[in-house]
Amino acid sequence: MGLESVAAAQTGDRNAAVHARIRDAARQVQRDPSLIRLLAVSKGQPVTAIEHLRRAGQREFGESYLKEALEKMDALADPTLIWHFIGPLQSNKCRDIAQRFHWLHSLDRAGLADRLNRLRPPHLPPLEVCLQVKFSEEPRKAGIPPHELPRLAAHVARLPRLRLRGLMTIPRASDDIAEQRATYRHLRELFDALRRDGHSLDTLSMGMSGDLEAAIFEGSTLVRVGSALFGPRAPNPAASLPGCTPPDRC
Ligand SMILES: *Cc1c(COP(=O)(O)O)cnc(C)c1O
Repeated sequence: MGLESVAAAQTGDRNAAVHARIRDAARQVQRDPSLIRLLAVSKGQPVTAIEHLRRAGQREFGESYLKEALEKMDALADPTLIWHFIGPLQSNKCRDIAQRFHWLHSLDRAGLADRLNRLRPPHLPPLEVCLQVKFSEEPRKAGIPPHELPRLAAHVARLPRLRLRGLMTIPRASDDIAEQRATYRHLRELFDALRRDGHSLDTLSMGMSGDLEAAIFEGSTLVRVGSALFGPRAPNPAASLPGCTPPDRC
């Protein structure tokens, strides 16, 4: 086998293993695994890696760094792929996100919501959005604290070019499944509360390579999986920028 076909076979094995993890976790809590979407987080991975997974039937890909994402979209030029922006959101990224992505998971400010609403091209369907929630008091970390959620949700729900689909969080890294579950349970409770308030949300974007079981136990409808699908990735291009801490969040 050539190197490329070895890589393709490895991707196929990892993909099967992740799907098996999702199925097993869902079964343990009597959930229907087909209601849990797999978002392949392809940040730091080459276009060939995306192509291998695409050949295995994967359609939804998540990216965190705008420039890298746009380059890959252009290289692949495949209108059947669904692109999710999951990285930190800033004002200067809104135009490209509104023009090129189907989903945004990291919306956390009303001003940016207004801007995206203005910039979403009229020929495209509304941008699908999740609000990013943070549970710890890390000033530099993206996301809104839970008590600000009802107001932001009400604001976003009024914007015609955005469609509010749900909530997303990136928990503090932990190997303790009880701690992982507690954070995800909290997000689900916020989600349930918004639904009781009349928001028709259907997406709980929670769970990554290391904790997707905990997320599925607590009701995740979309897991964002990178390294378990693709193997190790190239380092974050922004990590070497001054003032960027913690590196994975910049
Ligand atoms: C990188 C990233 C992931 C995937 O992380 P893995 O541990 O590689 O699965 C998921 N969500 C977000 C927001 C990320 O930045």
